[in-house]
Amino acid sequence: MKKYLMPLMMLAIFETVAVTLWLTKDNIFYLFNFSYIGLSISLGVFLFIRKKKYARRIVQLLVGLYILIYLGLICNENMQIEGFWYYLFTGVFEAATIHYAVAKIFGPLIFGRGWCGYACWTAMVLDFLPYKIPESPRKKIGWIRYITFAASLIFVAALFLAKVGNIERIMFWAFIVGNVIYYAVGIILACAFKDNRAFCKYICPITVFLKPMSYFSLLRVTCDKNKCVSCGKCKKVCPMDVDVTDNSRKRLNGTECILCMECVKNCPKGAL
Ligand code: SF4
Ligand code: SF4
Ligand code: SF4
Repeated sequence: MKKYLMPLMMLAIFETVAVTLWLTKDNIFYLFNFSYIGLSISLGVFLFIRKKKYARRIVQLLVGLYILIYLGLICNENMQIEGFWYYLFTGVFEAATIHYAVAKIFGPLIFGRGWCGYACWTAMVLDFLPYKIPESPRKKIGWIRYITFAASLIFVAALFLAKVGNIERIMFWAFIVGNVIYYAVGIILACAFKDNRAFCKYICPITVFLKPMSYFSLLRVTCDKNKCVSCGKCKKVCPMDVDVTDNSRKRLNGTECILCMECVKNCPKGAL
């Protein structure tokens, strides 16, 4: 039973968030929303423990499609970073602000970049591409993320400063156009660098939040040095170029780990 503690723990965390938000915001949507996400993630962790090959992909599709199609396209919520700025400027703690607080700002203190491995609707599509293991060395162009981060903030701030009318409608279209651009750039970069996760490594503005917060993550893959035979297989299969054999928080590309567990699955000695 001990091995099922993790899915139960994930469910408990999300249920706590679901009930707290339901009662404090007096809105039953939060109960359904976070219960659904918590159940999907727990199911994925459960399937992973049962050694089901597509466990992570199932969660990615369950959560990613729910946010993209239901929250984004049907409920007209901009769940991208522009939506976060929008709600922040209006001073309303709703939708994208709550989503960012839970999944991308405070949540990573517990589950690191689990969002990137199991829920992001951009990576959900990029992970279908053929370059699961990067075929080219990492580039030194990660600074681009700060430009896209600043651009998203300036875009929304400009709408407020110019007192543009019907910003809500603009935010809906920004969500659609933004996603089309993300997918296009993500696919082009993945093919150019032969690396599915190139967009995540160099362009994604959300990593400006995710990277520093996940540095302190409670949940992380560690290496049992007594079992490790330094074969290097874990580093070879890692989509994010993490040196997972180094247990320090300063490990190479440590804040890039998306908890995909490819290293764990491929370690011949069960050292991870
Ligand atoms: S880095 Fe950005 S695009 Fe990649 S999975 Fe994380 S949030 Fe999604
Ligand atoms: S795959 Fe396992 S044994 Fe090989 S280097 Fe990594 S942790 Fe060590
Ligand atoms: S392969 Fe291991 S170290 Fe690399 S991202 Fe996945 S879980 Fe993290």
